[in-house]
Amino acid sequence: MPASWLNWLRFIRWIRQIPSSILLLYIAVGQGIGAGVYTGGRLMQGTLGVAGEIGHTCIDIHGPQCECGSRGCLTHYVSTPAFMLYAEEERSCHSGTQLQPGFSRSELFAALAAGDSAAAAAQFLFSNTGLLDAPKNPMGAAS
Ligand SMILES: [Zn+2]
Repeated sequence: MPASWLNWLRFIRWIRQIPSSILLLYIAVGQGIGAGVYTGGRLMQGTLGVAGEIGHTCIDIHGPQCECGSRGCLTHYVSTPAFMLYAEEERSCHSGTQLQPGFSRSELFAALAAGDSAAAAAQFLFSNTGLLDAPKNPMGAAS
């Protein structure tokens, strides 16, 4: 049996032991941002089956246009593409950076590990403006 199946089975066994009075929220950040909400002894699916789709929650009505039709969705501030945009912006301001135009995600993480100033600045901005406040818009100005 593949390790991923074993982990899945362990997860199922673990989650079934959680009392139904507990609310469990799991948030995953990657290409977007999403959540799983476990409450009342079951995983919430919602009427349309999209419970936990928090990435398209509007956090800035003047934010950038989103593909979903709204503006300023959370995913524009907290996601891997947002982090890449922060890094691209910092790359142009740091002359000693190892990041080259068109850098990849793995190159960005390698630069972070190597202590690159542009990558570190992007990480700082992402950490501070992405989750706590959004004075800086990494996905472009609102129109
Ligand atoms: Zn959206």
